[in-house]
Amino acid sequence: MRLLFVEDDPHLASAVIRNLEASGFAVDHAPTRADAEACTRAARYDVMVLDLGLPDGDGLELLRGLRNRRDPLPVIVLTARDAVADRVAGLEAGADDYLVKPFAHEELVARLRAVLRRPREDLGDAVRFANLTYQPSAGTFTVDDGRPLVLPRREHMLLATLMRRPGRVVTRGVLEEAIWDFAQEIESNALESHVSRLRRHLKEAGAAVEIRSIRGVGYLLRAATS
Ligand code: CA
Repeated sequence: MRLLFVEDDPHLASAVIRNLEASGFAVDHAPTRADAEACTRAARYDVMVLDLGLPDGDGLELLRGLRNRRDPLPVIVLTARDAVADRVAGLEAGADDYLVKPFAHEELVARLRAVLRRPREDLGDAVRFANLTYQPSAGTFTVDDGRPLVLPRREHMLLATLMRRPGRVVTRGVLEEAIWDFAQEIESNALESHVSRLRRHLKEAGAAVEIRSIRGVGYLLRAATS
């Protein structure tokens, strides 16, 4: 289980990390909100433990940002604040659970396991790539912090297929199968024209991705190089 631990207190952090690693978690440590933002964009985690009082901002803002871009990453908020209002604010911002400092290590681990056992259907199995998010359960794409990207049906299917394999070549056959019914006659350049319309829509929406054509093979979705 890969865990992101966001905590600025170095003594608390090293003790908690040692315990978490002993409990089988692979831990990345982010001592600031900026570090945590960078980690969540660069890597995939199974769960986050988030301190609220950070030197460069409020952990709740970080959490709201995640939820605004439909990131379903389970988050346990960890804080010295124990007022009911703070707890409610944490849960309303999208925390899955709340633990007040000081806490026993066993309790943190028990809560982590409980959160990780929970089905994620309510948030959907979102797929994220660059600044683009695909929510398969809702069938929606969003850019950045939740701006909806609405596409014609075939472009939608095309992008959904590419989003499942970002950075890898998806063959023409797979893409054609995804967007046309078997019975349909496909014109030889039909896929190309859908791809070029999709490229235009992505650009207009400000999506930081590009669709590269791999001649004779298929297409590849990658982060846009500016
Ligand atoms: Ca703190």
